[in-house]
Amino acid sequence: MASITVKNVFKEYGDGFKAVNDVSLDIGDGELMILVGPSGCGKSTLLRMIAGLEDITAGDLLIGGERANEKAPRDRNLAMVFKNYALYPHLSVYENIAFPLRLSGKFSDEEIRTKVDDAADTLELKDHLERKPSQLSGGQRQRVAMGRAIVREAEAFLFDEPLSNLDAKLRGQMRTEISRLQRRLGITTVYVTHDQTEAMTLGDRVAVLRKGVLQQVDTPRELYTRPVNLFVAGFIGSPPMNFVPATVEGRTITLPFVSYEVPQEVADKLGDKELLIAGIRPENFEDAALVDQSKLTNPVTFSAHVDVTEWLGNELFAYVPFETTSEIHDRLRTLARELDSESLRTQLVVALDAGSRISHGEDAKLTFDAARMHFFDPASGDNLTRDLAVVAH
Ligand code: ATP
Repeated sequence: MASITVKNVFKEYGDGFKAVNDVSLDIGDGELMILVGPSGCGKSTLLRMIAGLEDITAGDLLIGGERANEKAPRDRNLAMVFKNYALYPHLSVYENIAFPLRLSGKFSDEEIRTKVDDAADTLELKDHLERKPSQLSGGQRQRVAMGRAIVREAEAFLFDEPLSNLDAKLRGQMRTEISRLQRRLGITTVYVTHDQTEAMTLGDRVAVLRKGVLQQVDTPRELYTRPVNLFVAGFIGSPPMNFVPATVEGRTITLPFVSYEVPQEVADKLGDKELLIAGIRPENFEDAALVDQSKLTNPVTFSAHVDVTEWLGNELFAYVPFETTSEIHDRLRTLARELDSESLRTQLVVALDAGSRISHGEDAKLTFDAARMHFFDPASGDNLTRDLAVVAH
């Protein structure tokens, strides 16, 4: 097992396109690091550079503290698991798992049997060893692919969207299995996904990439509660954070649906930028009739017309349109490079306690905790109040 370090790494393709742009990342021995970001952000390219399947244009790759830029993929001793599993259809499960051991020519039949049996035990594949991949479910195939990685006793696992071919339920199960297995084996793992839920639930730490640039590397909790910028704030969380135009004058913040005061330390961070983007997560709203205001640091209550409600059993989603001038919208869109028209909607999505009786077509009173609001500079996208953010318990 080994740590993996990338230092100021670039990948420039022949056409001059920078798919990875000055990325530095330290992945500790035994750590599970997730690389996440939208399609095309460079996460697979970064993983493939670690694996040795793609040249590194500039920068250093260290595996176990040793420079590995020039090492051939087979000499890096990393085990890669792909989304299509790459199993041999004509070989049994046993032979698929044994394959890398046979290929190395270093092991006797007896040793191979012991290693395959151990891996099959760990992965609960013992009853399927004689089957062919076509006789297995998607999840079982995935486990065979992992078995092949385990028997090699590799320095690290590299996963490239390994669950993307599975249905939602199986994906959830496999996520838990991978997490359990990785912790038990303690193998350094780099795991690529575009799915933020997968990233948040699996990772010790999560690296968020956008257009080849690393945005933030943090624990899921830090990412969620203290995003560094508008992009991370909008990418992590489902339903996503609400973004609302905000004007500031002294300590008074004016949102399209309410004005309220912030403490001086918040006002100091906002300075004299008159137009900002305020961000608040759906679950930070409450039905004012149910909320215990004493539990909120800075409760703000406002009246809202509820357009649509969706009762999900464990929570109630309410959609609340709000008015703003088209001038503000246009200015924000021009300023905010990060915001597409989709995230600059003129409605709030709020997630209320399932006990709420608020229903569609109603004027309701909602409360939010202003202490949980984030403020972003629309020009740079930076989270101006990150230092003051309340970290989730
Ligand atoms: P996805 O989730 O869609 O696989 P990704 O984040 O893994 O996306 P990469 O596959 O790393 O993205 O690709 C990063 C960028 O590099 C993309 O914009 C892609 O079009 C570009 N790219 C990939 N291969 C080449 C190539 N051979 N030449 C030029 N550009 C390339």
